[in-house]
Amino acid sequence: MPASSIKPPKRMLFGPGPGMVEPRVYEALSQPVVGHLDPYFFEIVDEVRDLLRRALGTQNELTIAVSGTGSSGMETAVSNFVEPGSKVAVFANGFFCDRINEMACREGASVARLEKPWGEVFEAGEAAEFIHREKPQVVAFVHAETSSGALQSPKPICDAAHDAGAIVIADTVTSLGAVPVNVDANGIDIAYSCTQKGLSCTPGLSPITVSPRAEERLRSRRTKPRDWYLDLNLLRDYYDGHKYHHTASASLFYGLCESLRAIADEGLENRFERHVRAHHLFVGKLAELGIEMHVPERHRIPHLNTPRVPEGVDDAKVRKHLLEKHGIEIAGGFGQLAGKVFRIGVMGPMATPENVDMFVSAFREALAA
Ligand code: PLP
Repeated sequence: MPASSIKPPKRMLFGPGPGMVEPRVYEALSQPVVGHLDPYFFEIVDEVRDLLRRALGTQNELTIAVSGTGSSGMETAVSNFVEPGSKVAVFANGFFCDRINEMACREGASVARLEKPWGEVFEAGEAAEFIHREKPQVVAFVHAETSSGALQSPKPICDAAHDAGAIVIADTVTSLGAVPVNVDANGIDIAYSCTQKGLSCTPGLSPITVSPRAEERLRSRRTKPRDWYLDLNLLRDYYDGHKYHHTASASLFYGLCESLRAIADEGLENRFERHVRAHHLFVGKLAELGIEMHVPERHRIPHLNTPRVPEGVDDAKVRKHLLEKHGIEIAGGFGQLAGKVFRIGVMGPMATPENVDMFVSAFREALAA
């Protein structure tokens, strides 16, 4: 058989995602496809669901991976739990909160926003005051805001929401697999994520988990979710009842299963600590170059760094140099942070001292150039 004719350029992915993928995951992805109702497919699905529960820190029965990227998980959360005419309270401190806001509006909800500049997070008191004032049915926040580099503490928001009788949607697209999400301990009702960042897999699936409290909400909906493809009741009939809903990609489930097995082999705690160590090393080396971080230390996402662009430096030129001369991808800021920060992911296989050293020496050279 001739070898594949697809020859992508070699890249080292130090951006906000996708991150680097381990060879064992690529190998899994290239295994022969089985049908979407094959007993082997469901064996893999069941293992994925178990391993996802561990990574998410939950016992939630309704834990699956939706066919689609992280935005499909967001849309699943919004379209199943936000009903027309309901009120959604959004903690708005970055780009992805705005996407949740937009989806909620499209569902016919009214949205109340608590705003903060990109890079800041919400304290317990202000979160509680906002929720008690607005009395929403649903509260939404982004755990790790990829546009700013800020990590929001979930528990105060979840506690206040539950006191007010609301359920909580948390975007864990950037956090899952690299920092603890602790769905049950934090009281998150619906958490969705992606496969291409902290889980070190390729894009294509979106893990989602739903608490018993949120399942109760789903049962008491007055209307069916408008979105047929992402209807959790239909998806449950597929993944639990093995009843055809759509032709899920066995290949993507193989890849996700392998990446979750790799994470289990490493151990979740070890993985979190490895990311924190790499983060400290990275921040220390950037400080030696005189570069400051945008987000205060106590609420930084360890694996998604937003160093400030030094005075007089054109961030687009630095990014172009890194890509062309070193095959290294990083991202720039956008929205409020356009031209002000770089967005540099040190995640998965890249979160090692050797890779941080290699990156920083290329970065130093790119800045000088
Ligand atoms: N939410 C957050 C916090 C993200 O960082 C992203 C993507 O980077 C998304 C949602 C959307 O995910 P996707 O691009 O996989 O659809």
